[in-house]
This record gives sequence, C-alpha cells and structure tokens, in this order.
Amino acid sequence: MPAQDIASSALASAPAGAFLTIDLDALVANYLAIRELAKGSEVAGVVKARAYGLGLAPVARALWGAGCRTFCVATAGEGATLRGLLPDATIYILSGLIAGAADAYEAHGLRPCLSSLAEVEEWRALAKRRGRSLSAGLQFETGLNRLGIAGREAERLISTPEALSGVDVTLVMSHLGCADEADHPLNRHQLERFRAIRAAFPGVTASLANSAGVHLGAEYHFDLVRPGIALYGGNPFTGRANPCRPVVGLQGRILDVREVASGETVGYGAAFEAKGPRRIAVIAMGYGDGFFRALGSDRQRSHVGGRVHIAGHYAPIAGRISMDLISIDVTELSEGAIKRGDLAELIGPHVTLDEVATRAGTIGYEVLTNLGDRYKRIYTGAGCSTTES
Ligand SMILES: *Cc1c(COP(=O)(O)O)cnc(C)c1O
Repeated sequence: MPAQDIASSALASAPAGAFLTIDLDALVANYLAIRELAKGSEVAGVVKARAYGLGLAPVARALWGAGCRTFCVATAGEGATLRGLLPDATIYILSGLIAGAADAYEAHGLRPCLSSLAEVEEWRALAKRRGRSLSAGLQFETGLNRLGIAGREAERLISTPEALSGVDVTLVMSHLGCADEADHPLNRHQLERFRAIRAAFPGVTASLANSAGVHLGAEYHFDLVRPGIALYGGNPFTGRANPCRPVVGLQGRILDVREVASGETVGYGAAFEAKGPRRIAVIAMGYGDGFFRALGSDRQRSHVGGRVHIAGHYAPIAGRISMDLISIDVTELSEGAIKRGDLAELIGPHVTLDEVATRAGTIGYEVLTNLGDRYKRIYTGAGCSTTES
C-alpha cells in the first residue's frame, strides 16, 4: 500500500510509527513465476524465519491458496507453528534433527532433513519404538560443507540399505553454495555430485535448487525446487538485475520537522553537522524496529548512509540511527512540503530493498528477516486485506 493510500485511509490516525505493507498478490505472482520457470518440478515454499520476516501465517496461507503443498522451515518450532496453520501440508525441517528431540518432530508430523548418520539413527530408533516407518528427507553434502551427510557416511548409507530401515525416505536434497553467481565452478561440481547421489535413490523426490538455483537452468531443477528469497521480492543474484516483483513496503511517520542552525550537530555522537542552516525531519522508527543502524551517516568516518523518499524527493539520513528515531535532512524540499504526520518511504518503489541492503552492507535476506514486530503490518491481496499490529 503506497504512502498516499495509507494517508487517505482509516490508518491515517493509527498510533503507528511505521507501516509495513506486504503485497500477497505479488508474493503469489512470484510463486507462479517460479512454477513457470521450473515447469515440471514441484515448487516448495521456504517459509523459515517467519517467512523471511514477512509473517508466517499470511504468507503460508497465501502460498497454500496458490497451490503450494510442500513447505520448508529451519526449526521444529517453526514447523509446529506451521502445522497449526496448514494441517495437510508436507513440512520439511531443513536444519535436521536436534539431538534427543525426535518425538517433537513426529508429534507434529514434521519431516527432518536428516543430515548425519547420528540423526538417521535417532529417527530409526523412534520408528522402531513406534513400530512403523517414519518419513524423512536426507540432506547430503555436495560442496557447501555446512550441513549434510558427507563422505564415508554417505557411502555407507548408500551401500547398506538396511542402514535406512524404518525410514521412509521422501526427499533427497542438497544445497547450493554459489547459485547467486551463475558462472561459479562450484555450481557444476555440486550438480555432478548430487546427480551421483540421487541415482542411488531411484523414485525418491530429489531437490537441489534454491531461488538462484532455479535460474541456473532446468538441469538444476530435479523434482522439487525450494525458493525463499525470490518469493519475497529479494534479489537472488549478486551483480544482476532483480527478476522478482517487490512484495514489501516500509513507510515511517514524520514526528516533527525542525530547524537546525549552522554549526549545530544532530543525534548521538554528533555524527551529522549542519553546514549552514538545515531543516531536519524526525521519523518514528529506528534500529529497535530492525532497521539497520549501518544506514546512518557519520561525518567522522565519511560514511554516507542511506536515504528515504518523501514528497517526491530523496532525503539523506542525517547522523546516527537511534533505537526509535531516524533524522533525515529535508533542507532541499521546499518549506512546508512536509509536515508532522506525513509518511516517508524507507523501502518501496524509490528506495528498493536491494538499495537498502547494499547501503547497509548486507543482503536483502537480512533486511527482511530483521523486519520488526513494532511495525503496523498491512497485508493486501490474495483474498486478504487485513492489518496485524
Ligand atoms: C534458506 C534455504 C533455501 C531457500 O534459499 P533462497 O536463497 O532464499 O531461495 C533453500 N534450501 C535451504 C537448505 C535453505 O536453507
């Protein structure tokens, strides 16, 4: 929802310092675009970390409505919450099986992506106690060297089928380390290793690609792809245009507009100094909302910082970002162009998520997963128009 719509709606008088808008139609459009790209493969929705900060319930329901039936989260806790929302979904736990916690996974019908022989053993032990086989994925190491069954353990598992008795293997997967760089040699290396592994599990659903992996081409798609960031409008690539539709907008409320005399400083650490008379506007949000402190400017460190868009102009962030407040320099705007209660765009069509990430020295993933709970959240589209504070 753009700033002018919020300003002219009932929300105008909401006691909110900042509005986070989430366009569920854009989310669904991104999901369908990936389905088109990965034709013939199932598209699972990766909704870990509260759907990358956007909110698990509205995102999961919108994806389900678009036909998504398989979901991936990182932890069993996230899986249990998701199970409460989607009783019939297939849910994989990407971070594997926490030692001693197998019962909790089974209680919620979660499928761990078993990532070591120790995890396989625990899952098998539970299956034995239950007297029936239990579904799970197998996560294999192919080059990322993070999580996954590796080396001798992988060989043993493949050469001795009894090692998996009691486990109903429903997914064989691995994860790419450099998919955001299409020409990186690790991609092909991982692809070849994964091909060899999946050949040992004929008929089992195989999955390698995250969002960027989907764009590497059909040979990376296998039976199921696992996009996250591309659903949420972040850029899956490094150094290439973002192919996804933006999903998230962020607008901050102006609390006050004030004059600052030449030579005065603004904010903590006196990091901004007025070279001549300046007009400064104060926005009602800060790093306590999950907005990045690295977007502040600092004259001592010649750090430029970020910018916002307001009344048709860009205004630079003036000095350090506080926990609850951000100062911006609006001297270039004509006097009276903005007033108390107006909204500034911090993420949107003029200040993109990618720009915010780059200027904060991070990636869109981290900007999204940091989106705070103090924002007034407005969900639009996908048959839903609700606000959740
Ligand atoms: C987070 C994650 C994904 C999704 O990655 P994106 O780059 O956001 O598409 C897929 N697979 C695994 C194992 C993950 O951890």
